[in-house]
Amino acid sequence: MPYIPEPIMGESMSSWMFRVRITKRNHTNSCLSETVIRSVALCSDSERQAKLSFDPDFDLDSPLVGIFCRVYGVTMTYVAEYFRHEVQPTISRLCATAYCYECMVSSVRTVGAPHSKVAWRYALTPICTTHGTVLYDAPIEFCGLYDITRQIFRWHSTNPVAIRLKDRRSEPAEALASLAARVQTSYMNIRENAVSAATQSKIDGYMLTLMRALLMPCAHCFYVKRDFPAVLPKNCFSTDNSWYVSFYQEVFRTSAGARATSLFLAGILLGWINEEEAGELRSINHYMACTPRHVWAALKKDTGMLMWLKTELSRNNTDYLSLSSLQEVPKQWR
Ligand SMILES: [Zn+2]
Repeated sequence: MPYIPEPIMGESMSSWMFRVRITKRNHTNSCLSETVIRSVALCSDSERQAKLSFDPDFDLDSPLVGIFCRVYGVTMTYVAEYFRHEVQPTISRLCATAYCYECMVSSVRTVGAPHSKVAWRYALTPICTTHGTVLYDAPIEFCGLYDITRQIFRWHSTNPVAIRLKDRRSEPAEALASLAARVQTSYMNIRENAVSAATQSKIDGYMLTLMRALLMPCAHCFYVKRDFPAVLPKNCFSTDNSWYVSFYQEVFRTSAGARATSLFLAGILLGWINEEEAGELRSINHYMACTPRHVWAALKKDTGMLMWLKTELSRNNTDYLSLSSLQEVPKQWR
């Protein structure tokens, strides 16, 4: 096999493909991988549809990946070894804006180019597992760019708005990241120990259900304004913002910051974060919940939420996570 750069640990397929093309000075070739997104106007309707639905981070079986392999002399076995991932709740590429700047800086130092990680695409992992920080969110306009990683890196390095994001590295913000990271790690450990893919899927469903409930307006008193993006991705979500649509969609279209806070709140309900630890976050938000009772009180404000939540959680009941895993559950659940 001719020389091609090795994938970095956890790197997404689109990021690696772009680095391969950069190495070969061929990054504008329009027949390869995510570059096809840019050339979509030149295609027939059916080709355009196929290319629009192509996700360069997960669609290993796409003919477009086959073309890439042939052009660069890479085997499909090699690609599958690094980039075939188990199924997890994934954010659409059309609204995947989360990134860790420190990870990008690290790969600039080691391989000379910023890279992106596949974990940034997962709804349930808003914390960087390398740096323990909440992922940043780039403007939605970056989504779909063929060189999104490079563009985000440039933007973050030079744009005053992005530089102000560094304010998030304050002491209480780091405390939130640390507690949310604990919840994320606990979830990932439980998932890893699950006996089957079906059980893993239920564990994902359970955590996702908690996050969905905690992202609804009844719990917004626990968030800061910047957690909810002013401009929402429109092209892959319904514009219908009815209760059920919001319940299911918000976790996939909101910021990494909001997902981190919802994980933190889920950690309180699961008893993974105690009152003293949660109390540290009162300096970020005076109304922040410290106990399961506070969180349940917010959810109760939404009529019907508790019964709906109970039904949804019960559908994802496992030996690892069930209704009995939650602390101080409301009277009507007992
Ligand atoms: Zn990182």
